[in-house]
Amino acid sequence: MTEANGLAWLAGYRKHAGSLLLMAVGLGFTAGILLIIQASLLSRVVTQVVFAGQGLSQVLPHIWLILALVGGRALLVGGGRYCGGLAAVRVKEAVRRDLLDHLAAASPVGLTGGGAPGELVDLSVDGSEFLDGYFSGYLPQMAMAVLMPAAILAFIFPLDLVAALILLFTAPLIPFFMVIIGRRAERLNRRFWNQTTRLSHRFLDTIQGLTTLKIFNAGHREARVVAEISRQYGQSTLAVLRVAFLSALALEFLATISVALVAVIIGFKLLWGDLTFAAGFLILILAPEFYLPLRNLGSNFHARAAAITTAEKMLRLLRLPLREQHEATGHDLPAPASGPGSYQITLAGVSYGYEAGREAVRDLSITLPTRGLCCLYGPSGSGKSTVLKLIGGLLKPQRGKILINGSDLGRVELSQWHRQLAYLPQKPHLLQRSVRENIKIGNPEATMAEIRRAAVGARIDRELAELPAGYDTLLGEEGQDLSGGQRQRVALARVLVSSRPLVLLDEPTAGLDQASSELVRQTIVELARSRTVVMVTHDHLFLPLADKVIRLDEGIYSTA
Ligand code: ADP
Ligand code: MG
Repeated sequence: MTEANGLAWLAGYRKHAGSLLLMAVGLGFTAGILLIIQASLLSRVVTQVVFAGQGLSQVLPHIWLILALVGGRALLVGGGRYCGGLAAVRVKEAVRRDLLDHLAAASPVGLTGGGAPGELVDLSVDGSEFLDGYFSGYLPQMAMAVLMPAAILAFIFPLDLVAALILLFTAPLIPFFMVIIGRRAERLNRRFWNQTTRLSHRFLDTIQGLTTLKIFNAGHREARVVAEISRQYGQSTLAVLRVAFLSALALEFLATISVALVAVIIGFKLLWGDLTFAAGFLILILAPEFYLPLRNLGSNFHARAAAITTAEKMLRLLRLPLREQHEATGHDLPAPASGPGSYQITLAGVSYGYEAGREAVRDLSITLPTRGLCCLYGPSGSGKSTVLKLIGGLLKPQRGKILINGSDLGRVELSQWHRQLAYLPQKPHLLQRSVRENIKIGNPEATMAEIRRAAVGARIDRELAELPAGYDTLLGEEGQDLSGGQRQRVALARVLVSSRPLVLLDEPTAGLDQASSELVRQTIVELARSRTVVMVTHDHLFLPLADKVIRLDEGIYSTA
């Protein structure tokens, strides 16, 4: 991704801040004009006092005016900053809203598979803060850096040509150095972001895997790694700061040298009598002001680098595939061929790869039975789970088609399809809520009796009843923890409690002991009498019970 992409994307958000940014620049510029007036008043007062010998009473009106101008400028500058800050808030709001909207609509497979949750959280929560400086500081400063020097130059040109030329030719040096330093700042910023992400990712991961790490005595090793990453993080923070300070120094230095040059020229001209004191003094007062907006721009330049890096990361999130890209087609699910809830599912030459060049499913053509139990059987990594996600519409085939009663699933309204099916993923997730609520996800209208019946079916009822608060026991972080097999069966109960005609199960007996597998097998066979069950399994004991077995192995598909 290039810098232009990130900047172009950010430019699109300017409309959210439009008039506020203009106001920030307008107020700042008006303050600048007042400054020029103030400077000329000051030089006049000094000339009158020093050379014309006027007393305080004669120049007092001018002094009051100068004080009024100082107050007015303070108000204007403050107002400009306020507008800039407000503009940044508007933009951040819009960015955050777009990001969250997109994440809400993104495919869950894209979000959880391969994505780094640490980065996701960083970006959606804190990320937009990095845009602040760009909108509140850099953009208004950029306008000011053109307007103010031009106005001052226009004022000085008639007074003294040589001084004006010096200013004119030294001015571009500042942006020039700024860009050189900015490039480096940008690279450092990118590294800084990567490290932030890496640190939060690693930390989250370590906490999640704490038990494993402890058991293998890897706690200290892991702590050292986290310490090392934190150290690198600290270093890159300092590197970013160093460049920021260095650039400030370089810009100060350039500006100071240039002002000194102007001062020397003015001094000589005064000596030779080429210039009046008032004009010379005025030029000297204005010369530092000429460079000020350029220097401010320089010190805001790192905000630009930070914003570009952030924008690139956000763009990557915004490019995550959407969940229901084809929902807009509005095609209805075709009527079942033989009675309600009976679906003829056919995969025709379907291929899917998570990464380019490596296909998890290649050219798969199968037809599933409309009733009963269909087993997808094969070794790990043969693409069984992927096939189940494809059938569930969670993934879209990259080649080939999935036909539901003869209609292309890619053109069917996906939410309609989702209402027809229940899905037990290979690693089911239990939310941090009560057991009852966790089961009810399968069917929000389920009564307590139905929930119990589902738990009986999943052979978990007795264990649930023994929990401290029974079905109301809280699970997860602050609640009761269940064993892997228990979690699997609660998730199975969630599927059973739904009355969806098609049930997709991914290894439902994995992690269960022999006795409970046997019971769960019975439940599934019973379930397949009233519904269509498509099941991925490793468990060969299922094979004699299935109405159809599809073997997936090294790209060879056989059916029995
Ligand atoms: P199975 O369920 O048969 O064990 P999967 O369908 O889970 O197999 O995986 C098939 C292949 O796709 C494997 O090689 C696996 O490494 C790869 N794969 C699965 N999920 C992802 C993912 N989210 N990102 C990248 N590769 C994946
Ligand atoms: Mg699997």
